[in-house]
Amino acid sequence: MDLFAHRVAVLATMHGKEAAIAPLLQAELNLKTIVPADFNTDAFGTFTREIKRTGDQLTAARFKAEAAMQLVGETLGLASEGSFGPHPAIPYLPCNRELVILLDATHDLEIVGYDFSTDTNYRQQVVNSLAAALAFAQQIGFPSHALVAMPTADSPEPAAIVKGIVTESELREAVTPWLQRQGSVYLETDMRAMLNPTRMQAIARATQDLIRKLRSHCPQCDAPGFDVSDRKPGLPCGLCYTPTDLTLATVYRCQKCSFTQDRLYPDGIELADPAQCAYCNP
Ligand SMILES: [Zn+2]
Ligand SMILES: [Zn+2]
Repeated sequence: MDLFAHRVAVLATMHGKEAAIAPLLQAELNLKTIVPADFNTDAFGTFTREIKRTGDQLTAARFKAEAAMQLVGETLGLASEGSFGPHPAIPYLPCNRELVILLDATHDLEIVGYDFSTDTNYRQQVVNSLAAALAFAQQIGFPSHALVAMPTADSPEPAAIVKGIVTESELREAVTPWLQRQGSVYLETDMRAMLNPTRMQAIARATQDLIRKLRSHCPQCDAPGFDVSDRKPGLPCGLCYTPTDLTLATVYRCQKCSFTQDRLYPDGIELADPAQCAYCNP
């Protein structure tokens, strides 16, 4: 069953994300995508905080996809949304969580691909000289990766935010007035996709995850998106066979018919290292 045959998906983007998403969907699923002209995704939130994002990451992506579908009158919509911040376990390590959502109004489907990575240049810094600004630029992969400059991190005037800085002269022009006026300027990486090749790769990986899920069909009703919804611990200890906290099985669940299926040994091992056993290694 090919749900997407002879259909076109509208991709909600104005930051060139189609370069990461469209070729993969075309090659892997033979799914054609279009990008609406004049679609202002910045109305749904900007990284440079002029406009706050609507809801959480998934809600924001869903809104964008729905708005694009309405705009062009298609039943298949795509959107991506990224978030950046400290690693949940290692606070000094920046990380990038990307998602790509596919909405199918005809078949009432919502399938989401994810990528979580520490491969990001997401950084910010207050600098006190042009030399320090250039040094920061070098650290974050400038000029293939763009920069944003503003007087301070806290609620700057939108007019004072300079985005998309990709040349040394642009950087000099953006920071010099503030260095002269207040002795410092705040720099951060521009995370918009077309100005950040590292992020573009993360969006491509999230798209691959989406494709994997679209290819995974429910054994009962054949709907796509049959994927892991839960993990069951209890992998037996290799020495005493007591169940451990390690994963014994993943539970796959269909969002259409709720059919579930356990798949044993998802990590490729059938016995746990006794070091992980509460009985052998208390
Ligand atoms: Zn099903
Ligand atoms: Zn044991």
